[in-house]
Amino acid sequence: MSARVFLGALVAVVLALRLLYSIVRRRRRAEPSGLRCPACQAQRLVVTAAIVLPGSSPLDLEALACRRCTFRGAGVRTSDDHVGYPLPPLEWGRLSSAILRCPSPRDPACTCAEHLREGRVWTDTRAREGRFVID
Ligand SMILES: [Zn+2]
Ligand SMILES: [Zn+2]
Repeated sequence: MSARVFLGALVAVVLALRLLYSIVRRRRRAEPSGLRCPACQAQRLVVTAAIVLPGSSPLDLEALACRRCTFRGAGVRTSDDHVGYPLPPLEWGRLSSAILRCPSPRDPACTCAEHLREGRVWTDTRAREGRFVID
């Protein structure tokens, strides 16, 4: 193999690697990072459904699920903070289907049965256990 052919091949390999690297980097950036799961610590906690509840300041109630472990929970997002509470699977399923049944989950003034019930349940979270901060 002559030195020129060898150098040409080397340059081609380097260019191919650089292209591959930029593709991987772009893909990694596009991947949704997710929230940090309080159970397994992976950035794989995602909001599977959300509903805006009325209140002095409207709050976002979210069904949270970890894509890596079995953790399920509810997130409460206000203008001040974003916290979560672990939920047993049955309660999480009930919350998720309640949000799906609401005809207008982004509207805090919606008066459907799910909105009224979740509003009652989630406007006072002082008695809830396992509160964790979502960042
Ligand atoms: Zn997890
Ligand atoms: Zn509703």
